[in-house]
Amino acid sequence: MQELYEAPLAPLTTLRLGGPADRLRTATTDEEVVAAVREADDAGEPLLVIGGGSNLVIADKGFRGTALRVATTGFRLDGAQLELAAGENWSAVVERTVQAGLAGVECLAGIPGSAGATPIQNVGAYGQEVASTLTEVVAYDRRLRRTVTVPRDECGFAYRHSRFKADPDRFVVLRVRFALDDAGGLSGPVRYAETARALGVRPGERVPLAEARETVLKLRAGKGMVLDPEDHDTWSAGSFFTNPLLTEAEHAAFLARVAERLGPDVAPPAYAAGEGRTKTSAAWLIDRAGFTKGYGDGPARISGKHTLALTNRGSASTEDLLTLAREVREGVRHAFGVTLVNEPVTVGCAL
Ligand SMILES: Cc1cc2nc3c(=O)[nH]c(=O)nc-3n(C[C@H](O)[C@H](O)[C@H](O)COP(=O)(O)OP(=O)(O)OC[C@H]3O[C@@H](n4cnc5c(N)ncnc54)[C@H](O)[C@@H]3O)c2cc1C
Repeated sequence: MQELYEAPLAPLTTLRLGGPADRLRTATTDEEVVAAVREADDAGEPLLVIGGGSNLVIADKGFRGTALRVATTGFRLDGAQLELAAGENWSAVVERTVQAGLAGVECLAGIPGSAGATPIQNVGAYGQEVASTLTEVVAYDRRLRRTVTVPRDECGFAYRHSRFKADPDRFVVLRVRFALDDAGGLSGPVRYAETARALGVRPGERVPLAEARETVLKLRAGKGMVLDPEDHDTWSAGSFFTNPLLTEAEHAAFLARVAERLGPDVAPPAYAAGEGRTKTSAAWLIDRAGFTKGYGDGPARISGKHTLALTNRGSASTEDLLTLAREVREGVRHAFGVTLVNEPVTVGCAL
């Protein structure tokens, strides 16, 4: 197992931010992952699991403990059943499933990071989320000190959330299993209005898989949501804030604030989110609170392509990014009475 001391973590993150870890280990087999986790736990040492670093905000002071990079490989298709090692690159996995003619994750193309991290926040985009196709997560359970298989029903999946995210120091994902769909080379029903428009179909229709994937990639690239080392608009953690889920009372109060501030004819985005809650758009709130694309004049700015992405223009520190994030959160709270919550995981720092 590769091992480095005082190892910089910034290059392992898409934000390229954060100080060093006392120790960085890179595991390339499940056995190495488990051994590294056990050793850290036995020594009472803090552990930070890193996949592709695309949803991590690491403090400038770094991480006092062991950072474990999961770099395992394994892609196994048996009919429409897919098993992935946690370290597999997710975007490459999607490409391979599309090439294999299987539907279910084609709209999750271009999401950076590892397969093992997809269940953590139940990654989703353009009308799909992994909770719909994932069947099981094989993980090392640090509490039980053994490898367990967690069926989908016990994963606690919700919007950008799961049992794994709720209990971050318990499970280290080793393998993820999916049941894909053989729809004769067609995609799943296109559920997202923007994708349907771009594809020239009605929501609910199916299109050739490759077309669905390419369209999603094109839409994402236009928003700086496909990694490009040359483009600082993609030096981000993707969406920095989740879309707020409002109770009935909160939604009513929000609408009153919108009417007061922007006039009675302005209707903010609203989607039924179950349990009487309404989902509104964090991007809309940020934009209408005055933080438009490209906002900021420091080394951390809002992406020039998407209001929801906070970016490092090259010389930012984590503190610069958090200062901007706090400004946005306070501005939105002041304007609309809604408190935005960060989507990426913060390590050694907080918003
Ligand atoms: C440009 C861009 C676009 C994005 N677009 C989307 C999007 O459309 N939809 C979406 O949902 N997300 C999106 N994201 C966020 C991110 O890509 C996903 O959350 C992704 O799943 C994170 O994977 P990762 O391997 O990079 O995780 P990391 O950033 O390395 O880790 C994230 C969290 O998961 C934990 N973790 C990682 N691997 C494991 C493991 N094997 N076992 C246990 N815990 C683990 C880490 O400890 C940490 O808490 C985007 C990010 C970027 C930079």
